[in-house]
Amino acid sequence: MSLVIETVRYTYRLRPGVQAERALLAEWGRCRFLWNEAVHMQKTSQRPTMCGLSKLLTEARGRFAWLREGSQVAQQQTLRNYSQSLNHSFKVKARGRPKFKARKKAFPSLDYTTRGFSIRDGRLRLPAGVSIPVVWSRELPSDPSSVRVYQHSLGYWYVSFVVRREVEEASEVEGSIGIDGGVTTTATTTNPAYDLPYLGHRKRCAAELAKAQRKMSRRHRKGTAASSGYKRAKRATAKLHQKAANQNKHAGRIWAKSVVDNHQVIAVEDFKPVFLAKSTMARKSADAAIGAAKAELIERGLRAGRTVVLVPPAFTTMTCSLCGVRAKQRLGLGERTFLCWNCGFTDSRDRNAARVILATGERIRAGVDDVRHSLPPLGDVAGAVRVRNPPASAVGKR
Ligand SMILES: [Zn+2]
Repeated sequence: MSLVIETVRYTYRLRPGVQAERALLAEWGRCRFLWNEAVHMQKTSQRPTMCGLSKLLTEARGRFAWLREGSQVAQQQTLRNYSQSLNHSFKVKARGRPKFKARKKAFPSLDYTTRGFSIRDGRLRLPAGVSIPVVWSRELPSDPSSVRVYQHSLGYWYVSFVVRREVEEASEVEGSIGIDGGVTTTATTTNPAYDLPYLGHRKRCAAELAKAQRKMSRRHRKGTAASSGYKRAKRATAKLHQKAANQNKHAGRIWAKSVVDNHQVIAVEDFKPVFLAKSTMARKSADAAIGAAKAELIERGLRAGRTVVLVPPAFTTMTCSLCGVRAKQRLGLGERTFLCWNCGFTDSRDRNAARVILATGERIRAGVDDVRHSLPPLGDVAGAVRVRNPPASAVGKR
């Protein structure tokens, strides 16, 4: 087993006092001014270079005393971030140029290199004597090389350190798994032991959420400025959403880890955003949950050096996982069992789909493009049941 060094971010909650928060917001105001100056420069002249941006910083700091009060490191980093996002926008044509950051819309975010911050007595020390207690939820694996301080939309402050850590390369394991996302069970796999059940975090807080949303609409009058009561209700609603999302994320992480730890080949359905847009609310929240879990799974799988195969979602619910023959009609969403008209194989709809995904994944890996007419090997299909003489009535239905 060899050791690999990776660069990662470790994020912690910050608890700034009134004074520290005021200092952070003032710092953000100055950095935001420079960002917007750079956006202005991009509109009036040629594409600004890092050299041009440095000149902008020197001139602006020379001209305005209030700008000189702020940390030079944070201001430099702001312009560096701007330059990076501008360069990126030129590389990826679909992305727009860096935009103006409005005071009420943009969320504060400050970057410091080692010259601009230090950690002493468990507190984060920033320039101009700002010292903020950090909630050390876990230990830092190494001395951080840079840091980002930012405010979440709910108003909480976080600090994220860039650190290097040693990771043990994941041990080789046998076994492959196919995964299908669904509504009643968030993820159904070829092995029932690895299913991710429907957690219902969003459903559990649905009543609370509805209450908060009613409160919001009661406190809102069209054409008037948002009252403080409305803002409070809005915040409560956002908090509930965030809580459910966090719970889903946490459960998804644990699930993804157990799947990745025990399988070498992981076949998942590719994402299907078009289907998502057309669907009902229940489907949407289920998709959000499976989407987060799947993203986590893919990331972890690739990091551990597993073979992750993305399978096109077409026909996965319609194909028999035993004989590979496709059903003549699409199964309705309400129909929970699959029954093959050809060989009489029957199983739960999602389990069958998971097996098809795995078989298709194995084929994509083997480099066979057309999977429709080839049969999956029988040995691969764990726990498959072949019904020798299917009831005539059941076969006739499809
Ligand atoms: Zn069949």
